[in-house]
Amino acid sequence: MKENWDLVIGLEIHVQLTTASKIFSATSNSFGADPNCQANIVDLGFPGTLPVINEEAIKKAITFGIAVNANIANESIFARKNYFYPDLPKGYQISQYEAPIVANGKLRIHPTEEDSAIIIERAHLEEDAGKSIHFTHQNYTGIDLNRAGTPLLEIVTAPSIKSSKDAIRFLKRLRELVTHLEICDGNMQEGSFRCDANVSVRKSGTTKLGTRAEIKNLNSFKFIESAIEFERARQIELLESGENVIQETRLYDEKTQETRSMRVKENEFDYRYFPDPDLLPVVIDETVIESIRASLPELPDKKRSRYSKVLNMSAKDTNLLLNSPSTSKYFEDSLSVGLKDPKASFNWITGELFRLLKKSEVDISDSKVSATELGLLVLAMEEGSLPKSKGKEILNNMWETGTSAKILIEKQMSESSLSISDLENWLEEVLTENHKQVEEFRSGKEKILGFLIGQVMKKSKGRGDPRLINDELLKKLRAQN
Ligand code: ADP
Ligand code: MG
Repeated sequence: MKENWDLVIGLEIHVQLTTASKIFSATSNSFGADPNCQANIVDLGFPGTLPVINEEAIKKAITFGIAVNANIANESIFARKNYFYPDLPKGYQISQYEAPIVANGKLRIHPTEEDSAIIIERAHLEEDAGKSIHFTHQNYTGIDLNRAGTPLLEIVTAPSIKSSKDAIRFLKRLRELVTHLEICDGNMQEGSFRCDANVSVRKSGTTKLGTRAEIKNLNSFKFIESAIEFERARQIELLESGENVIQETRLYDEKTQETRSMRVKENEFDYRYFPDPDLLPVVIDETVIESIRASLPELPDKKRSRYSKVLNMSAKDTNLLLNSPSTSKYFEDSLSVGLKDPKASFNWITGELFRLLKKSEVDISDSKVSATELGLLVLAMEEGSLPKSKGKEILNNMWETGTSAKILIEKQMSESSLSISDLENWLEEVLTENHKQVEEFRSGKEKILGFLIGQVMKKSKGRGDPRLINDELLKKLRAQN
């Protein structure tokens, strides 16, 4: 590289809103129906049908606007964005152009650093298009219009993100925010949270923006990072060899980890935007904004600082919990039984419980062991009424049989009280049968303890609790010393 180049990134994120129905029709907005079974005459753009705006979609957009400290438009209008695509039945997409519902917000890349905030230029509502399905029918392209009319909030940042790492950090914060606001499920694989990255480079120290390429088709954080890095290198190489970057839309190929040209980017005038005559302007009353503001849930940054200050959780652990609102809710519910050590509960959730959830492909919100049940199990170990070594077995038992923590712990306690007297006998036997080793231990060769534990385990036929044996054995060895 001959010169130094600065990277400039602006992101456009399409956030699919979790409304019950579509943005302009009463069709269900759920994912996964058979192709073309979830699109009515409005979604299909039949002549004579009229769109009706979904109030929930408006409210969710306002919710987002308030959370990022943006201006909420008093009057917001919808526009037609005209283009021809097989999966766009009307020949235009209803979107917003002038007067978007949300403008000029901010979101920090680093929660505690004010100057890490990225400007959100706008967030506007629009309908999604259908899907063209290649490769399923030989010689044909299939069209699935289930997605047509799905409500999207398109969030557009200023071109001020400086590295691919920061782009990912920003996206993680944003995903965390929209999921905690419960306006989006954040599922990147299903396309509920997808991102286009606009990338350009300019010589270090200059201020004029370079020509950008827009990369589409990015459905994982890893791909976004790799696509931006590839694009940066490609553009620098072009510029350094005296060529120009063309403003175009590029696709990222996961296999080659490269971007390639898809089409020369349309200019705004190609879309012939104009206000949609079928829809009235949306007038948003101050009282509506205030009532939404009053009902906002605790925002992730606030939660993050509470976890750190009140619960003493590390930043890393907190990030893991905030990764999904249902996980942080489960965690907090588990503490409600009166646990003193949140970290213990965290460990059980992210360890054995996550393993069980993953194995059964169940979301934590549908966990077979409820948060309070897990809390009670952890509490029993915290209070010492259950040996920690039994936790896993009991949790698995709870998971498989649905038996409550209380019943299983009581059962365990009555069994272990039986074996306490057995244990006493086994210990005595082992100590008398192994004089030599006992002496060795007492003369400082403490490693021999392992052998003695093994002897007791043998007598218990593997039923003994090694930790308990360890403790009791030590007591005896030291007491008679
Ligand atoms: P569209 O992509 O629909 O034409 P805009 O022109 O408003 O819309 O730009 C969309 C995104 O591209 C924004 O996130 C913006 O920050 C980003 N962007 C614009 N110019 C550049 C540039 N030169 N380099 C990097 N990003 C840019
Ligand atoms: Mg764009």
